[in-house]
Amino acid sequence: MAEKPASYLTRAGRDVSTPGASVNPPVVRASTFVFKSVADFQAAAAKPFDGPFYGRVGTPVTQAFEEAVAAIEGGHRAIAAASGVAAITAVFLAFLGQGDHVLIPDSVYDPVRRLCARTLSRMGIEASYYDPAIGGGIEALIRPNTRLIYMESPGSGTFEVQDVPAIVAVAKAHGIRTAIDATWGTPIYFRPMAMGVDASIHAATKYIVGHSDAMLGVVTTTEDSFPAVRAALQDTGACAGSEEANLGLRGLRTLDLRLSRHHDSGLKVAAFLAARPEVARVLHPGLPGAPGHDLWKRDFTGACGLFSFELKPLAQGMTVAAFTDAMTYFKIGFSWGGFESLVLPAHPEKSRAVTTWDGKGPLVRLHIGLEDPDDLIADLARALDGLRFA
Ligand SMILES: *Cc1c(COP(=O)(O)O)cnc(C)c1O
Repeated sequence: MAEKPASYLTRAGRDVSTPGASVNPPVVRASTFVFKSVADFQAAAAKPFDGPFYGRVGTPVTQAFEEAVAAIEGGHRAIAAASGVAAITAVFLAFLGQGDHVLIPDSVYDPVRRLCARTLSRMGIEASYYDPAIGGGIEALIRPNTRLIYMESPGSGTFEVQDVPAIVAVAKAHGIRTAIDATWGTPIYFRPMAMGVDASIHAATKYIVGHSDAMLGVVTTTEDSFPAVRAALQDTGACAGSEEANLGLRGLRTLDLRLSRHHDSGLKVAAFLAARPEVARVLHPGLPGAPGHDLWKRDFTGACGLFSFELKPLAQGMTVAAFTDAMTYFKIGFSWGGFESLVLPAHPEKSRAVTTWDGKGPLVRLHIGLEDPDDLIADLARALDGLRFA
C-alpha cells in the first residue's frame, strides 16, 4: 500500500459517500435481518459473509472492521472473532484434521499449548514443538502428516524473533500451510502477509482495541485459505460482537499514534533497565544488542510497548513480588496493549517442551503504557532500590 498506515486508518472500513452518513459505522445490534421475499432471503443466504444475513456470520460493523483489517494487513479478507484465542482456534480447525500434525514454537502463547494438549489432542491432532530460533532448520521436523507450521513472533514472555521468511520458504516447498500470531508487531509494524504466510492472526484485544475494555480477535488470510478459516469460525460460532467490532474500528483510528508513543517509551524504559546493575538482561527485540535485534530490524518497522527483563538472582527470602507489588503505575494484570502500564512475573521454565529456559534470576514482563516514561522509570527505579540480591 503506497498510502501510509496513519492516513489509511482514518478512512478504512467506513463509507461516507452517502449524504448524512455518520463518521463511524454505528454499532449494529442484530441477530436477525429481515427480507422482503424468499428470493431476497435466498440471495443473501448465497453470500452470507458479504452483507447482512444473520448476526453470527456478520453485521455491517463486523464486516467494516474486517474490511479495514484486511486492507491494512494486505490480505485477501479478514475474519473477526470473539477473541484472539477464538481466531487461533479457527485457524487450527481450518487447516488440521484427524491424524494431522502441527509444528508450534516453544515460545508460544501458553493458552495455545493448552488448546493443543487439552482439546485438539482428543481429535487426533498432534502438536510438536520447535526451537523458535530454528529458521530453515524446521525442514528436519516435518513429518509426512505435517499440515501446518504455526509461528508467533516475537514469542510470548521471552520475545524470540522468528525467521519467518525462511520458515515460509520451507513450508511452501513442502506444500504445508503457515499461520502466525502477529499480535506484538501489530498490522502497522509487522507485515507477515507480504512474507507469504497463509493466515495472520491478531489478538485485537491488545493494541487494536487499545483500551483494555473488549475481547476481539481477527484473522487475515490469502484467497486460497479464506473459505476454510471462514467456515471454521462459522462452525465454532465464536463470532465477534458488534460492540467489540465497533471498539476495534475505533481503536484502529488511533493505532499509529498510540504505537509511536508505546515504541518510544518502551525503548526508553528498556534502555534504562539495561543500564541498571540489578538487571541481568533485557529481552526487547527493538533494543540494539538484545536477542533477536537483527531479525527485528530486518522484518519489523517498529516495536510495541511489551518486553521482559531478567533480574539478577535475589537474596534468600526475597521474591519477585517485592518488586512487582512495590510499583505505583505498573499494575499487576494479564493482557496488554491498553493505555496503561502493567507488570507480571513470567515463568518460561514451566512450559518449555524442547528448549530449556536458561534464566538464572526472575523474569518480569512489562507493558509500557501511555504514561510519561519518566514517571515509569522513577517507579521502576524505586522498586529496584527496594530489592536485595544474592
Ligand atoms: C493475548 C494474546 C492472545 C489471545 O488473545 P485473547 O483476545 O485474550 O484471546 C493471543 N496471542 C498473543 C500473543 C496474546 O498476547
